[in-house]
Amino acid sequence: MDEIPVKVAVRIRPLLSKEILHNHQVCVRPVPNTQQIIIGKDRVFTFDHVFGKSSTQDDVYSSCIKPLLVSLIEGYNATVFAYGQTGSGKTYTIGGGHGAEEEKGIIPRAIQELFQAISENHNIDFTVKVSYIEVYKEDLRDLLELETNVKDIHIREDEKGNTVIVGAKECQVESADEVMSLLEAGSAVRHTSTTQMNERSSRSHAIFTMSILQQRDANNGATMISSKFHFVDLAGSERVTKTGNTGERFKESIQINSGLLALGNVISALADPKRKSAHVPYRDAKITRILKDSLGGNANTVMITCISPSTSDFDESLNSLKYSNRAK
Ligand code: ADP
Ligand code: MG
Repeated sequence: MDEIPVKVAVRIRPLLSKEILHNHQVCVRPVPNTQQIIIGKDRVFTFDHVFGKSSTQDDVYSSCIKPLLVSLIEGYNATVFAYGQTGSGKTYTIGGGHGAEEEKGIIPRAIQELFQAISENHNIDFTVKVSYIEVYKEDLRDLLELETNVKDIHIREDEKGNTVIVGAKECQVESADEVMSLLEAGSAVRHTSTTQMNERSSRSHAIFTMSILQQRDANNGATMISSKFHFVDLAGSERVTKTGNTGERFKESIQINSGLLALGNVISALADPKRKSAHVPYRDAKITRILKDSLGGNANTVMITCISPSTSDFDESLNSLKYSNRAK
């Protein structure tokens, strides 16, 4: 195979202070000097990148994301996903824009680098636009324009095969600070404090997109290059167990987020060496339809699987490692 369509990184967060307080033990760790992870006594998985508990935000950005930003400017689409159970570090890794400089996640770093590149390339005319969408129960919500009715947002494919989200606000931006305010405002909408909304934000996917248009004024005619970078904070991968109202025993119905299921199928179809002939099931969910032109093909994709190290999360961590293993 010429290109690996999806690279997979796994990041194990440190134990949180409340976990240390409750004497949680660690059940998953990187194998030193390898790209492997061991969970439990002896289950070993191999990935493209492995980040342990002392990895920094800069480590993750520099090794996984920087190359995608470089190719974005060369005209290729890119997607980064954060996958994992609620509380595993997805939002921390993707970065909603809060906190100290060194704590900043992927999005603020990518924004800064993009505007740095723009300021260094005077011969290119850049237009940058951002949008911020949430997918919840297969409905789209515009996090930059709350008044927009979910029914007025649609996914369409244009004649060139580009995915367009009709009805979603695209803000043209001139500086990194401007992007950060939009990101912060949109993220604040997602993370309100009521439990109902927290439930929603853990069950929904958030897609922050930077689209760039470059006009290069070459001597023999101008060229236009357009490309986009999606940053996706996926819904929590945990299985939601619903308790029935039948008294003595809990009836559990296991419900897995349909978007995550569809995404897993798309990613494993892309990773299949016979994929040229294989059907890639993009149409099965909104999230895969939105990302269609930025997953596979000439696009660069990185999935960062976030893992809690605690033995109390063993089952979910093992599930996440198995899911991510399908991408190879
Ligand atoms: P998720 O978005 O997957 O639900 P969060 O990103 O909110 O998880 O992380 C849960 C908690 O763990 C937060 O308090 C966050 O600050 C902390 N955390 C996550 N990853 C790390 C890390 N690599 N280093 C330090 N703290 C982390
Ligand atoms: Mg989160």
